[in-house]
Amino acid sequence: MTPFPVPHATASWWRTQLHRLDDYVSSDRVPEESDVVVIGAGIAGASVAYHLHQQNKGQKRLRVTILEARQTCSGATGRNGGHLKPDPYSSIGHIAAEHGMEAAAEVAEFERAHVDAITELVRTEKIDCDFVLTKAIDVQLLPEECRTAKANFDSLAAAGVKSVGRVAFYGRDDAEERCRVKGAQGCFTYKAGHIWPYKLVLHLLSHCVDQGANLYTNTPAQSVSSERDDYGRWTVTTPRGSIRTHHVVYASNAYTPAILPIYSGKIVPVRGVCCRIVPTRPVTRLTETYTLRWAEGEFDYLIPREDGSIIVGGAWNKYHQDKSNWYNVINDDEMIEPAREYFDQYMQRNFHGWEQSGAYVDQIWTGIMGYSADSLPHIGQVPGRPGQFIIAGFTGHGMPQAYLSGKGVAAMVSEGIPFAESGIPRLFETTQARIEHTRNDILESVQDLKQPRAKL
Ligand SMILES: Cc1cc2nc3c(=O)[nH]c(=O)nc-3n(C[C@H](O)[C@H](O)[C@H](O)COP(=O)(O)OP(=O)(O)OC[C@H]3O[C@@H](n4cnc5c(N)ncnc54)[C@H](O)[C@@H]3O)c2cc1C
Repeated sequence: MTPFPVPHATASWWRTQLHRLDDYVSSDRVPEESDVVVIGAGIAGASVAYHLHQQNKGQKRLRVTILEARQTCSGATGRNGGHLKPDPYSSIGHIAAEHGMEAAAEVAEFERAHVDAITELVRTEKIDCDFVLTKAIDVQLLPEECRTAKANFDSLAAAGVKSVGRVAFYGRDDAEERCRVKGAQGCFTYKAGHIWPYKLVLHLLSHCVDQGANLYTNTPAQSVSSERDDYGRWTVTTPRGSIRTHHVVYASNAYTPAILPIYSGKIVPVRGVCCRIVPTRPVTRLTETYTLRWAEGEFDYLIPREDGSIIVGGAWNKYHQDKSNWYNVINDDEMIEPAREYFDQYMQRNFHGWEQSGAYVDQIWTGIMGYSADSLPHIGQVPGRPGQFIIAGFTGHGMPQAYLSGKGVAAMVSEGIPFAESGIPRLFETTQARIEHTRNDILESVQDLKQPRAKL
């Protein structure tokens, strides 16, 4: 397997209106020196670069160079479900069971803060990215699973976890009418959003380029030196030349182990699938986002768009049994064949009022997530490598985690603040102990569906 992003990825609907920076290069050769090199132009890299500029406004301009192996925002961020959904009670319960209520509550508040931060960002920067603030509806479709979810929810509430207080629960008598999903056994609702992720990222990066950042697409970082030179600089090698820098930020998601092998087996490429469904006849529009939970560990997620279409991802139960479909797979240039037809008639099957909609799958694509072996992202200073930082492994849940993580990483890089002051949850800090641990939640979650998986 080539550990770098593959060319000719399947066409994601988010990448149908390409920005002028989509295949931009600032010059034929990369600069010989840069203050910071950010590897990866998805939401994580864009956020780091954007905040480096914001935090250094009015000061000596930092030279920031962004390297992207393919086109700008052509990785997971440009191929996802567009769901900005903080988790106030579901995975938080798993985190609380393992790490305690306080640490879990910190994660919940951090995710919640993303909704406000992105709302504010879109408003103040006037970003044209179809951002909609709405409610998420988590629909439970099996009675037993619904009882378990409600019991977990109640125990978090009893323990005083604040985020749970912002969630409403509807039991079997009301759920189906509330959410319009056939066979709903119960549902939880809370504040969430949806967005056109590509447009958000491209806006942030164009701001950076306007402020003097260098952006090189189709320019992979092929390696980073294992030692620093006499001036304390690392060397990043690309096909357009080498860059010497004091700071490297790995925002390279699933592909990080290719250039930082200590994360092999700690951040694993996991392939997922999304599609766009378009109704052909008038239908009562959905206004909220959904997760349809078929069973523990098996769910689909969808957002309604203003143009009447639906973006939906999931189909897990069609393909997870054979891990060659998804585990350690970087081929987003291919479909996951067993999932290809899963979304046909999806809205007609599952939503009241959509039976006569004539809805059909207009576009379907795959994407590569960076799953973390212990289910938590790796963020902060890379152990043993001063000046190198990682922000990766969001385990299918980057939209409510990556933006403010990028802000924290930018402050660690440019102001030298320690992780503990970065505003990022303590559990996300990358450490030698986490790197050395042999657990693999990703595979265990398939053997035992009660283990946490992606947390959409
Ligand atoms: C099908 C699918 C659906 C999803 N749905 C949702 C959702 O609805 N909500 C949600 O919260 N999350 C969702 N996710 C997960 C979410 O998209 C990710 O967590 C998030 O986008 C990760 O952002 P990132 O910047 O870390 O990674 P990416 O967006 O993948 O960016 C990393 C970039 O690094 C580049 N790169 C890698 N190696 C190198 C190198 N050596 N040199 C230069 N560049 C390199 C890659 O080409 C890529 O562009 C989904 C993901 C997928 C695939």
